[in-house]
Amino acid sequence: MNRNIAIDGPAGAGKSTIARRVASSLGAVYVDTGAMYRAMALYFLRQGIKADDSDAISRAAEGADVTIEYRDGEQRVILGGEDVTPYLRTEEVGNMASVSSTNGDVRAKLVELQRRLAANTAVVMDGRDIGTVVLPDAMLKIYLTASVAVRAARRVKELVEKGENPDPARVAAEIEERDHRDMNREISPLRRAEDAVLVDSSDLSVGEVTETILKLYRERLNHPRVIVAKTAGFCFGVRKAVDKVYEAAGNGTPIYTFGPIIHNHEVVADLEKRGVKVINSVDELEDLKEGTVIIRSHGVSRAVYERIENAGLSIIDATCPFVKRIHRIVEQESAGGSQIVIIGNAGHPEVEGIVGWSVTPASVVGTPEEAGRLRLDPGKPVCIVSQTTFNTIKFQELVDILKCYGYNINVVNTICSATRERQEEARSIASQVDMMIVIGDRTSSNSAKLYDICRSECVDTLFIQTRNDLTRNLAGGEKVIGITAGASTPKNIIEEVQNYVYAGRREF
Ligand code: SF4
Repeated sequence: MNRNIAIDGPAGAGKSTIARRVASSLGAVYVDTGAMYRAMALYFLRQGIKADDSDAISRAAEGADVTIEYRDGEQRVILGGEDVTPYLRTEEVGNMASVSSTNGDVRAKLVELQRRLAANTAVVMDGRDIGTVVLPDAMLKIYLTASVAVRAARRVKELVEKGENPDPARVAAEIEERDHRDMNREISPLRRAEDAVLVDSSDLSVGEVTETILKLYRERLNHPRVIVAKTAGFCFGVRKAVDKVYEAAGNGTPIYTFGPIIHNHEVVADLEKRGVKVINSVDELEDLKEGTVIIRSHGVSRAVYERIENAGLSIIDATCPFVKRIHRIVEQESAGGSQIVIIGNAGHPEVEGIVGWSVTPASVVGTPEEAGRLRLDPGKPVCIVSQTTFNTIKFQELVDILKCYGYNINVVNTICSATRERQEEARSIASQVDMMIVIGDRTSSNSAKLYDICRSECVDTLFIQTRNDLTRNLAGGEKVIGITAGASTPKNIIEEVQNYVYAGRREF
């Protein structure tokens, strides 16, 4: 199990002091990055490379092999198997290190060596981008900081102890400048990882900061590690449609959505409280005297637009642009004489809408059996499109089956990029975790497809609507749990599940 700790933060926050103490308390290796740079510098000097020959430094970097070991409680720096600790503090090595540490190839090599070290042993590493770049999978990430005033006071004290007489205002200004430089530098800028815990040491002693981090570490050991998909939740098409309904609600005129605005019971119920009614069929339009009908992101057939207009009602069209594009393709291709095949789930509102834009009867194919049974006119071209949320791999399988019949086929893959990215990320996370959770409404087709994809990578995949559906014991620091969610799952539901899973609740 990965038990590494990454500590990032601005200069003067006490990172290396704290990192050493934490490592020593845990029996972990404190990775002294500065010492590793010095070992690299020694390696270049031994190759006869001059400090101003950056090309030679870049070329030689790949061959360096540096690691850190602890022998009898002492840190030893090992270069190519040799303990070089005694040779690192010379002026010559220091000068070479200050030049070579700014070289991008040296930096890349060192990151590789640090990751290798962290893969083999528990490490505590401090720097500016350890949690974001060097060890993005660290079990615990800390962003250690302190106010400029406190850091300046600490620095002034150090200088006074060295016999100097510093100007406190100037020291504070230098610290502010350094922060700005570190955050904006080209190579390894200072960044706080999204999942890093902020520890402000302004009012804490070194012992208290160390204890805070050790406490977080012990807590983390008892929690599962949770990976939440960045693509989980509303896509832009759904977000836009939901926003349009909330904007329209309460504007004085009756508001209707043609079908639930999204496949999510909580959101639909909330809109209902604001007076938004759901119409489920065109026949219901006949009874309406006035008002506005909002067309959801799935879109509708041309005939539905006409029925709404004929009923004297206004339209707010929230059809997703990706779906509208399919409508246009189907309309033009069918008018041009092509037979339309839609790969998708028959009966799904988006598919029904697409069917309704074809000027000739369209076929819908959702399974290999349906593809095998489909018989088309071999004398006419065929245009194949897809439901936007169809599984990309299954889409290709069905296209391949249809191609076996020798039709003149034009395939337009209309699976939307948001869906593709969501499915790819879900697949990738599911392949790395012990358990996968897919959050989505039971009626949501894209969530069901996400479940299928995750299940094919991770047998222990759950499909839930809210955190109340979680009935499993999730405790245990050894577990890695992935979470993704369909395009119609609101953020607050994902966060509730995420917090619940992270807490590793035992009380079932
Ligand atoms: S899933 Fe894709 S096509 Fe459907 S609403 Fe979202 S962005 Fe649009």
